[in-house]
Amino acid sequence: MLIKNVKFQEDDNKSHSIYINDEGIIECIDCDKKDGEVIDAKGRLISKPFVNPHAHLGYALTLNYARHNLSGTLIEGVEIIREEVSQKITQDDLEKRLGKIIKMHFINGVFYVRSHDPVWNDVVFKMLKARANPLVDIQVVAFPSPGFFFDENLEKIRKALEEGAEVVGLIPHSERSYDDGVKSVKIAFDLAVEYNKLIDGHVDETDDPNSRFSEVVAREALSRGIGYRTSISHMTASHSYDNWYFHKLTLLLRESGVSIISNPIVSMHLQGRYDNYPKRRGVARIRELINSGINVALGSDNVADPIYPLGDYNMLRVAQEAFLVDHFTSNEVEKLLNLITTNAYKAMQLKEPEVKPGNKAEFLILQTKTIYDAIRTALPPFLVVRGKHYAMNEIKIRIDEIEETDKIINIIDK
Ligand SMILES: [Zn+2]
Repeated sequence: MLIKNVKFQEDDNKSHSIYINDEGIIECIDCDKKDGEVIDAKGRLISKPFVNPHAHLGYALTLNYARHNLSGTLIEGVEIIREEVSQKITQDDLEKRLGKIIKMHFINGVFYVRSHDPVWNDVVFKMLKARANPLVDIQVVAFPSPGFFFDENLEKIRKALEEGAEVVGLIPHSERSYDDGVKSVKIAFDLAVEYNKLIDGHVDETDDPNSRFSEVVAREALSRGIGYRTSISHMTASHSYDNWYFHKLTLLLRESGVSIISNPIVSMHLQGRYDNYPKRRGVARIRELINSGINVALGSDNVADPIYPLGDYNMLRVAQEAFLVDHFTSNEVEKLLNLITTNAYKAMQLKEPEVKPGNKAEFLILQTKTIYDAIRTALPPFLVVRGKHYAMNEIKIRIDEIEETDKIINIIDK
């Protein structure tokens, strides 16, 4: 396959071509060899694949499996999933939904996803059996929801780690007491060291300004020297911290080397539910964290389930939501792309794919010619290539028979 007229960098107006052989390997760049399909990228910009470092694939797309979540709270959503939905998650059901979920990620240019799967009704074990596929790599978190000290969760988490889950989960603010929460952090780190795994916790996913487990996690990561393997997901309580405390916390987060993973779309839906007007936004302080030198990445979180009824794994839309909720400014638009690429690869401890001869083809051609227009429009990529597999999202806009696609999608010249 030859892909021609590709832009490699925003500020370079040269056109390049990429030739991919039948094995899905990049054979040459700018060699104009062609013996198969030819795709004209028409000057669109190439990008590395997107990453979704926080999702719940085990129960995604189960919105219609149970009653509606009428309070809109996380607590009611979790109750519905535990009590009604999880009973319906058989191996066969999971495999069918996962087939759709993988394609939804792939057409949106996401090749790597981290899925937090609970031990209820063995969802995590079913995911470990179902996850192999050629389009999207699924990293599994053994997620002890609603806490290590419920049911036989600790034993089941051990078993999931032994069976191949790459990441130890935790959820300290949801344990029965503050002391249990602190103990759960120690348990998670003990497991990560014992089994040589990564750590990613649901931490401080509340509007409670006194929920302060992020400091406990970061302190533990620092003591054990494994901050680079540790992610703190959500941290929505940080929205409600006083500024002095938040500033002190950023120093510890940076020193420990942990990553923060925020999920702005779902946090906007779930947080502030106990407020009257005015309602808090309840999203981690993404912008301040970045400016403090901390590695921040963005995830989709839930899609079409009792916790969040909408969503589609379009990571550009997630980046756009971060822009909106955390008061980013126009000079910062482009750097939001790092939150769904470079920073997310780092949080998941993955190597970034490179476009060069001899490598497996793993890249996207965006719908647009600039990163600014990609984030502004949040359109799915024009072309997604992974080895021998590829997907196209073709958008054609015509007004009175005149093709206007380029002018309408690319509004700012670079
Ligand atoms: Zn989550």
